Amino acid sequence: MGLTNRQYDMLRYNYDTRRRQARFGADRRTDEIYDKIPEIKAIDDRIRTDSIRRARLAISGDKSALEGLDESNAALTLQKEALLESHGFPKDYMQPRYECPVCQDTGYVNGSPCDCYKRALTELVYNDSNLAGILKEQNFGNFNYDLFSDSPETIDKTTDMTPRRNIETVVAQARHFIEVFDEQFNNLLIYGNTGVGKTFLCSCIAKELLDTSHSVVYYTAYKFFRLLENDKFHSADIEEDVPGPDYLIDCDLLILDDLGTELTNSYIGSALYSVLNERALKKHSTVISTNLSLHDLNTRYSERVFSRLNKDYIFLKITGEDIRCL
Ligand SMILES: [Zn+2]
Repeated sequence: MGLTNRQYDMLRYNYDTRRRQARFGADRRTDEIYDKIPEIKAIDDRIRTDSIRRARLAISGDKSALEGLDESNAALTLQKEALLESHGFPKDYMQPRYECPVCQDTGYVNGSPCDCYKRALTELVYNDSNLAGILKEQNFGNFNYDLFSDSPETIDKTTDMTPRRNIETVVAQARHFIEVFDEQFNNLLIYGNTGVGKTFLCSCIAKELLDTSHSVVYYTAYKFFRLLENDKFHSADIEEDVPGPDYLIDCDLLILDDLGTELTNSYIGSALYSVLNERALKKHSTVISTNLSLHDLNTRYSERVFSRLNKDYIFLKITGEDIRCL
């Protein structure tokens, strides 16, 4: 699991807030009860003073001072509960009401993450990925191989396979990328004509990794470079919840969809290189999809971008017709 610092801080903040609110609510209800049922305040005062008195004795060497304390407190608690019920209140009325009683809103049970924490984490990484919603449709479970032709006349010259045979190979490689994601630093460059299913495959990869609580960030190239430019030129204006460049470097997987559709300027090339380079240095994987041929990639971006791709990326070509029209 790879949380960015920002995600971790946000999650901790949410849990701290929940816990504080639960305790604040309990304090408020306690004040109300002390007001309405003074006998309960008297019992609580007795529990407190008795505990302090016994603790003082224990500190000064009286080994028997704490004997029977638990039993005596338990008996007084029962009295309190009976009083609450006789006044028409539930017996746990003065207790904090945690959203998750299992971990009492700490997120942990015996040092391990609580189920509620894992759910909150998955929700957070989904929302941060820019993919919430899309992934219900676009995942391996909905991958339709029948959309890819298997007839011999559709064999592609570069892959020497039918689109169907080819996509099976590509999906197997994508699945392998996911399987070894935590152990191996790999990157994918998925290329092919418009509409052959590159974005769909990116979504499938994103979903698998999000479901195992990895931080995944998805951007179309157009939005990605606009974000970088905004951050560079108007850093004060950037929307607060848009992940800034640190996030782009630190997330477990960055998906850059449709590279080549962005507007070109001198800044784009160097920004692309610096993100790919920083991520490679930190061994954080990147998946890029593009309509550009390898030749066009080479001429459009700088030599150092192309050599970075060549060195670190597994090239996956998807062949076939525009399946969006079928
Ligand atoms: Zn919990």
